[in-house]
Amino acid sequence: MTELHPETLMVHGGLDGLTAAGVHVPPIDLSTTNPVTDIGTGGDSYEWLATGHGLRDGDSAVYQRLWQPGVARFETALAELESADEAVAFATGMAALTAALLAAVQAGTPHIVAVRPLYGGSDHLLDSGLLGTTVTWTTPAEVASAIRDDTGLVIVETPANPSLELVDIAAVVAAAGSVPVLVDNTFATPVLQRPIRHGATLVLHSATKYLGGHGDAMGGIIATTAEWAVRLRQVRAITGAILHPLGAYLLHRGLRTLAVRMHAAQSTAGQLAQRLSAHPAIAAVHYPGLPGQDDRGLLRRQMSGPGAMIAVDLAGGFDAARTFVEHCRLVVHAVSLGGVDTLIQHPASLTHRPVSAGAKPGDGLVRISVGLEHVDDLATDLFAALDAVRSAA
Ligand SMILES: *Cc1c(COP(=O)(O)O)cnc(C)c1O
Repeated sequence: MTELHPETLMVHGGLDGLTAAGVHVPPIDLSTTNPVTDIGTGGDSYEWLATGHGLRDGDSAVYQRLWQPGVARFETALAELESADEAVAFATGMAALTAALLAAVQAGTPHIVAVRPLYGGSDHLLDSGLLGTTVTWTTPAEVASAIRDDTGLVIVETPANPSLELVDIAAVVAAAGSVPVLVDNTFATPVLQRPIRHGATLVLHSATKYLGGHGDAMGGIIATTAEWAVRLRQVRAITGAILHPLGAYLLHRGLRTLAVRMHAAQSTAGQLAQRLSAHPAIAAVHYPGLPGQDDRGLLRRQMSGPGAMIAVDLAGGFDAARTFVEHCRLVVHAVSLGGVDTLIQHPASLTHRPVSAGAKPGDGLVRISVGLEHVDDLATDLFAALDAVRSAA
């Protein structure tokens, strides 16, 4: 078969065998345990799955923590979209990152090189050393000099949360040498960016965001090589953070409309970024699609579009940022992102609260996740809130 386009893969990925089974959507299997035929084959299946391998013909799935068919369908779909061998899904994005870090620790390479900014929770997990990792925070240009003999992973996020800075994935991969690079692709999604094509070994998503897309299911997923998938599934089987089957169903369903949602939200975000730039209460708009914000040409080389996240710096600092987020009416004041409705939040107070003082986002920075509402309604709401900022000043 000729290679299918991403839009087609999104609709059909992970759904093999449904027609033969006489159904149109994947059945939801909630079994926590799966009967085994006899001790010998059951024990053999247990051993195989608990050591991180995939279900073979004739295997019992044994126990939901080891293997779940709906989760496997979602994984197959995402792996195809990311041009990866396989994918491994977890209860949350943080559980997925935890598994990658534990796999590095288990391999005797607990040192992590990470480029800031990252999502606040990822920053917190790395900075805390809770899992036995140590971290060297660095810039893309200094990745090579930060690598040590015991470095297990290089971690970057692009576009970065919350500042929307872009990181050149291929350049970081070259600097990392033999150390695998993990890219958090939550903001771009495989619709706009496929990091494996630029040399990344692991691609992480908070599926809670764009992949699910409706703000009603949490999940995390890592697309990677067959070898890393075994290591991640083994950690998942031992530590127990597998995705729930109902979550897998919702996230897989969301994935089917990802391309149309992403393109629509991106188009609205581009228009809003431009309009917001003109407002006097705003000192700067951070959006990779604005003129002059992609001087390295990464939008052409590594992404097919700037996405639907915008960050704005309020000229009036913290007080202005607070007035702005608290005066939105249609736009919802809430953390998270990537859903059908537009959300606004103040990273320094909320998503990036645990980040250490020197690395925290600025007090005047506000992050907007643009949804699927009409652009004029969003502009009216945001501009009314910005006018409140001006009156308050
Ligand atoms: C939300 C988020 C995470 C963490 O995912 P959860 O599903 O909330 O655990 C990781 N990275 C990025 C970029 C995020 O936005």
